[in-house]
Amino acid sequence: MTAEQKTNVALFLDMAGDYLRDGYKRPSRKYSFSGDQVSPICSDAVLTEPPVPASGETGGSALEGPGVEDSLEAVAAEVRGCTACPLCATRTMAVPGEGVSRPLVLVVGEGPGADEDASGRPFVGKAGQLLDKMLAAIGLSREQNCFIANVVKCRPPGNRDPLPEEIAPCAAFLNRQIRLLGPTVILCTGKVATQALLKTDEGIGKLRGRFIDYGGIPLLPTYHPSGILHNESLKRPVWEDLKLLRTTLMDRDETYIN
Ligand code: SF4
Repeated sequence: MTAEQKTNVALFLDMAGDYLRDGYKRPSRKYSFSGDQVSPICSDAVLTEPPVPASGETGGSALEGPGVEDSLEAVAAEVRGCTACPLCATRTMAVPGEGVSRPLVLVVGEGPGADEDASGRPFVGKAGQLLDKMLAAIGLSREQNCFIANVVKCRPPGNRDPLPEEIAPCAAFLNRQIRLLGPTVILCTGKVATQALLKTDEGIGKLRGRFIDYGGIPLLPTYHPSGILHNESLKRPVWEDLKLLRTTLMDRDETYIN
């Protein structure tokens, strides 16, 4: 069998797998062949070494990085049992994230709020409802083509910003999710999440509005939906960001239709 024929078979099997999992087709994964070996070319480059917690604690298996048998379900189970930072003591429910397993867009926020802590689901409060409307405006949803997650998986008390010593031990979970999901694009909402992923102190006002390479994945910073709820003037720049996201998806993924 030629390399081209092998590629076609691999893509067909990939699409069939997607369809059986999500009822959704996305033939965007690429493959390379070496002899009889086939390797998916995905976004593994984004995965840096698992971060070492500032406390020096290992934090359990989440910090060991993704293994060959890793899965979204395994990540979620480990998140729910995680005690690697003090947020485990005050959470009601951990919030691993939710959405399709091969998303066009991975939306990343900073952490769960009260509604998310009570339900175990990400972005379900007022800000989450606004996020759903924003995504729907450009043909996206967590049911069809997105996955939604946070930088920290447990609620910081009083909805304060997560601390560096909480973000660090939790980062391995998001890294594993990014590796497993292989999103076409990451939409990073808000200052905290953007600064955590890009490891910068730059303000969100300067970072938003353009794609930034994140280990091979285009990452678009924008304002957090809760920011719009408090400041209506942010609606216009967020809409500009969404239009940029839509254009980029149209260029990069033939299955995106809006
Ligand atoms: S926030 Fe992350 S590191 Fe901290 S307990 Fe929850 S899952 Fe573990």
